[in-house]
Amino acid sequence: MTDAFFPSDDDAGFDEDGFDAACLRATIDLGAIKANWLEMQRLSGRARTAAVVKANAYGMGIEPVAETLYAAGARDFFVATAQEGAELRPFAPDARIFVLSGLWPGLEPVFFDYELVPVINSEEQLAFFMGLLAEHGEYPCALHVDTGMTRLGLSPEEALALADDPARPASFSPVLVMSHLACADTPDHPLNARQLALFRQVTEAFDGVEASLANSAGVHLGPDYHFDLTRPGIATYGGQAVNGATNAMVPVVTAEARILQIRAAKAGESVSYGAAAVLARDSRIAIVGAGYADGFHRSGSSAGVPLRGALEQGAHGVLHGRRVPQIGRITMDLTMFDVTDVPGARAGDYVELFGPNLSITQAAAAAGTIDYELLTSLGHRFDRLYLDPED
Ligand SMILES: *Cc1c(COP(=O)(O)O)cnc(C)c1O
Repeated sequence: MTDAFFPSDDDAGFDEDGFDAACLRATIDLGAIKANWLEMQRLSGRARTAAVVKANAYGMGIEPVAETLYAAGARDFFVATAQEGAELRPFAPDARIFVLSGLWPGLEPVFFDYELVPVINSEEQLAFFMGLLAEHGEYPCALHVDTGMTRLGLSPEEALALADDPARPASFSPVLVMSHLACADTPDHPLNARQLALFRQVTEAFDGVEASLANSAGVHLGPDYHFDLTRPGIATYGGQAVNGATNAMVPVVTAEARILQIRAAKAGESVSYGAAAVLARDSRIAIVGAGYADGFHRSGSSAGVPLRGALEQGAHGVLHGRRVPQIGRITMDLTMFDVTDVPGARAGDYVELFGPNLSITQAAAAAGTIDYELLTSLGHRFDRLYLDPED
């Protein structure tokens, strides 16, 4: 039975953690993450480069990624929540960890215990933080100013008023003033220059305080946007930062799932829920053990989902070096691919969902989304294998 199920003894070996036998496997190249981060550092010129490791390091795993980037020299880290900061601390022992969502009543012990730096986003957070300073004395913080994103941040007017406030306590000493670009992925968008001009006003008012504006795409906008610290996230993980540009980053993740069964089906028969895909020819259909619960988004289904009205092509996989189209609706745990044109296809084979042969940008586009969402959706059922930078 084993021989029939697994293509060869070589492929069938069970390694210590069962990776070779996993139904879903993700190979994450830490060397690529390191190389990409170093490239963003090079592109950042004189500015320092932070490591953005929110959302479990964009789904790639906070521990191995943080260890890799810390070893590569990162000493400034950004996370979204205090919980993420606490999780990160052991892997970035003496680094500055900025918490983008800021500090709320009840979270002070986490910030103090793990020495997290709150990003102050609003007048409410500022008032609460000032109260803490009065009670506990000096503590670092970052100030986030909204220059055009209409998301988190003090307004430029609020920030300028704060800079000029004579009643500002001496213990209030922000270590960073930051803002976030809304359209950096579209280099000629006029909002970029408007945000830059507003941010300059604010940084001038906070003379002597370090400043940070650029995410991955912002780094590509050039030195005017770099200030003292850049914050590239997606580029570190091999994603597309600038719309339409060639992506020079090294791919980081290969996501694969096994064929569990191959079905012969006749022309005219339908595949999957809703019978939305009707076969035009006699076909061999591979049933693969990955679905939308694993981050293989249902919106990428070849048929039977609203997106197919707007985008012609659904998702694909790669099997034995050939692109195979996904067929019918993607389900929670299973996805069907048409492997009629891959005669050697058999149960036990792995289909690449994205990786070196199918970029995350292409895979994301087929599901109507972006690299960021594809990476951060990579499900818990994937067995993750890390390739060390030295390998
Ligand atoms: C996520 C995030 C980044 C990183 O953005 P990328 O586009 O992934 O490079 C930088 N700054 C802030 C405030 C963020 O939320």
